[in-house]
Amino acid sequence: METAAVIESARKKIAILPPDEVRKIAAGEVIDKPAALVREFIDNAIDAGSLCVEVHIEDGGMRLIEVVDDGCGMDREDLAICWKTHATSKIRSMEDLAFAETLGFRGEALAAAAAVSRLEVLTSVSGREAWRLEVGPEEYAEITQTRRTRGTSVRAFDLFGSIPARKAFLKRGWSEANLCRLSFIEKALAFPAVSFRFIQDGKLKTNLSVATSLKERFGAAVMDSEGFLYEISAAGKGFSVTIVVGGPETARSDRRHQYIFANGRRIQNPSLAQALEYGTQGWYPDHPVGALYIRIDPALADFNIHPAKREARFSDSGAIHRAVTAALREFIRHQHLARGLASFPPLSLSSSAETSGAKGASLALEAFMDDDAGEYGASFNRGAYTPQDTAPAFPPHPSLAAEPQAAYGLRYLGRVFGLFIVVEKDDRLFFIDQHAAHERLLYDRFLSGAVPCQELLVAIPFVTESEGDDLFLSAHQEELARLGVLIVKDSGSWRIEALPAGWRLGDGETVRELLELKRHKENMAEHWAATLTCHSAVKDKDYLDESAALSLADAALGLPVPRCPHGRPLWFELTKEDLYKAVKRSLR
Ligand code: ADP
Ligand code: MG
Repeated sequence: METAAVIESARKKIAILPPDEVRKIAAGEVIDKPAALVREFIDNAIDAGSLCVEVHIEDGGMRLIEVVDDGCGMDREDLAICWKTHATSKIRSMEDLAFAETLGFRGEALAAAAAVSRLEVLTSVSGREAWRLEVGPEEYAEITQTRRTRGTSVRAFDLFGSIPARKAFLKRGWSEANLCRLSFIEKALAFPAVSFRFIQDGKLKTNLSVATSLKERFGAAVMDSEGFLYEISAAGKGFSVTIVVGGPETARSDRRHQYIFANGRRIQNPSLAQALEYGTQGWYPDHPVGALYIRIDPALADFNIHPAKREARFSDSGAIHRAVTAALREFIRHQHLARGLASFPPLSLSSSAETSGAKGASLALEAFMDDDAGEYGASFNRGAYTPQDTAPAFPPHPSLAAEPQAAYGLRYLGRVFGLFIVVEKDDRLFFIDQHAAHERLLYDRFLSGAVPCQELLVAIPFVTESEGDDLFLSAHQEELARLGVLIVKDSGSWRIEALPAGWRLGDGETVRELLELKRHKENMAEHWAATLTCHSAVKDKDYLDESAALSLADAALGLPVPRCPHGRPLWFELTKEDLYKAVKRSLR
């Protein structure tokens, strides 16, 4: 086409869109799929103070979405305008947002629902009189008398029936139904005191009765595997956080069951999700399952930055991040060490083995045997978590739950495949991975601050390759010193003057690992601990004499979370019953 023709065809007259079209376009911001409507209707039910919320969907929500509640209801006057754009009872001005505790505040949801579906609302304030509102196309609305107990039922029929373009983007019924259920679960997670039912095409799919804690609700709503859940509290200026987290055995390879809530709304916040990961790093094989429930002074957060309120901005999100990470680490470490160390055998080791491997091993063992539980007992309590009102401690291994571990309750049977220490205890055989077990014990010991720093006879000189490295080292010198690494800068080049006791890496590797910390600023201690312990723990083929092996086995069996810092289990267990069964003998 000629340029002139293109220009000519682009020129059209401006017209103001009719209000009905404007409403449909604006509705798209809030309601893009059935699940969004489910979320908005549940929000309203919760804002109305309901104790019982029932969600019905048909054909993935496309034929019907209905949310029935027993909340405060609306009188006839409010019912008449509740579906108008910007009709809200929750705020009167922008200033009120700083105090708003409600989930809704923009007065958009019912208006959007009316724009994209046929909306019906039945409501009653007292149960004595009740009203039904029907909103049809072209803003036609009618109110008639009906019967209903106190509360509200909101129904949206034929979603996107008048907007084929949007309907075309919907997935199949079962898939949209699944998204609706996820929206429902999300809401239910944050409000344990409310009972929730989800009914799909006439069938009750999920029934969540009132729960007494967030932990209990989380367990009922999302845990598809058996496992322990813990509830931990953290707090800071203007906010508090309840952390619900599954034990290491519930960790998953994806982050699907990680939720962040701020004042009852689920938000997407990668940085806070990371706090959950950092807090559990070193104890979990994979991504933890859990939720952060942040309660924050509304004045310190902005919930008005996303059309569907899926994001929030905090005035100091770093503070929340730190509080969560610290509380989780304190909690796990304390539970872990208090339990693990209480059962440390009062043995001092002397190895008679001749090989150098054995020597190294027994020295390393001696190092961690020196500590007593008291030291750890005194060093916790700094964190914000509250042990009294939290979940039970990490369970000791089930087989050890009944009695405290004593070194002499174990019978040493030997070592197999150059790696496993085999011990017998009561009617059980344990095959303990010596490297993994030692790694875990050293790791805990390092993080508890019990590893001394050792001055090097000959310092390790090095030069940095970039200004970034230089800046990093200068800025973190003190923190590194706390990790047992003393570095000094002298006329443009650096020297490592001291390293944690037991450090075994060569000079080049040590420098590389040191600079690697630049990429782990948030969890430097954990990363350094992992590096240190991985290299200084006894290796697969290292020889351990009987007493060293027995002590290691005993300490490992006393651990409440028998996993290495990478999350692998420390041992495999066979019971007498297992063995009898294997040869088809009966155990009498
Ligand atoms: P918002 O929740 O932002 O105020 P909505 O469009 O979702 O806006 O709802 C408009 C108003 O209708 C609410 O402010 C509330 O007063 C009333 N309302 C909606 N749903 C319910 C309900 N389930 N129970 C009682 N009142 C409701
Ligand atoms: Mg609302």
